[in-house]
Amino acid sequence: MNILFYTTDAEPQRWVEALQQHLPQARIATFPEHGQAQADYAVCWKPPADFFNGQRGIKAVFNIAAGVDYILAHPAMQSGYLHGVPIVRLGDAGMAAQMEEYVLAATLRWQRQLDTYAAQQRAGVWKMLTPVNRSVVNVGVLGLGVLGTHVARSMQRFGYQAIGWNRSERQIEGVDCSIGDGALGSFLARTNVLVCLLPLTESTRGILNRANMARLPQGAHVINIGRGPHLVEADLLALLDSRHLSGATLDVFPEEPLPAASPLWRHPQVLITPHVSATTLREESMAQIADKIRRLEAGHPLTDVVDRSKGY
Ligand code: NDP
Repeated sequence: MNILFYTTDAEPQRWVEALQQHLPQARIATFPEHGQAQADYAVCWKPPADFFNGQRGIKAVFNIAAGVDYILAHPAMQSGYLHGVPIVRLGDAGMAAQMEEYVLAATLRWQRQLDTYAAQQRAGVWKMLTPVNRSVVNVGVLGLGVLGTHVARSMQRFGYQAIGWNRSERQIEGVDCSIGDGALGSFLARTNVLVCLLPLTESTRGILNRANMARLPQGAHVINIGRGPHLVEADLLALLDSRHLSGATLDVFPEEPLPAASPLWRHPQVLITPHVSATTLREESMAQIADKIRRLEAGHPLTDVVDRSKGY
């Protein structure tokens, strides 16, 4: 079995070794050193435009991430024989627990008013604020997929009111689920801490816009851990400056790294992290991909196959 491999990581060999450990019989070639060998499978993250050139036997493309917007935008996916080849994404692979930590940390920071206390500290002010009980805080999760479901459940277990919004029907114990575009407005009106865990598609691009974020109650906090283009930056800044929103925790941006000129860097109510809310774990992800390849070779059905018509 031949595997064609590419990652933007500075040490691709370490990923190849991890994959090789789980697939000892496989011949794994890293791009661009692979020459013209015909691959059975591609395992990749953000492959360059010529990655698939000359490849005519690929049976499945494994995306080393949960989000598939990059791979779906690859020129080879739009045309030619790859059009019908399954794209397989990571399913959790250690990311859900990281997302849970990130959302919990950001929510606690907001609920315990730590930013206000930090500002008071800088001003030398000793002043007790009215405490906010977590049982009256609604944490609303946009997108109840693998990651969103995990986050909503864990916030509920932690004592917050967990609510969620999704395209298709969801039953999640302890989580009040709203379904479809018609329910978005009332969902937002009840959300104190909004968590975006949607995939980036034409229907979700710009969903964190002025009209939608204005529906959040005054003082709400926005956490974007989906993709940068979900958020309209100028709309966020306007709502922060008008004090409608109290703050935002942003991990993803339309352009990464976030350009130095972005006003988000210096905004006192914005916390920026460099796309680290859930990093792809090498061991877990390579083990999962190897397991899926073995299942495919054994004729078993695949999980986490991307629905190209939906865009995720
Ligand atoms: P899933 O595909 O499992 O879940 C996506 C969910 O979003 C599904 O439940 C889907 O609904 C819902 N959804 C999609 N479109 C709409 C819509 N138009 N309206 C309402 N609901 C919609 O993905 P994951 O949970 O694994 O990951 C979610 C996203 O998180 C990724 O696509 C990626 O963008 C981001 N991510 C970010 C990371 C980071 O480090 N910041 C790391 C990993 C992922 P339905 O059930 O109907 O299909």
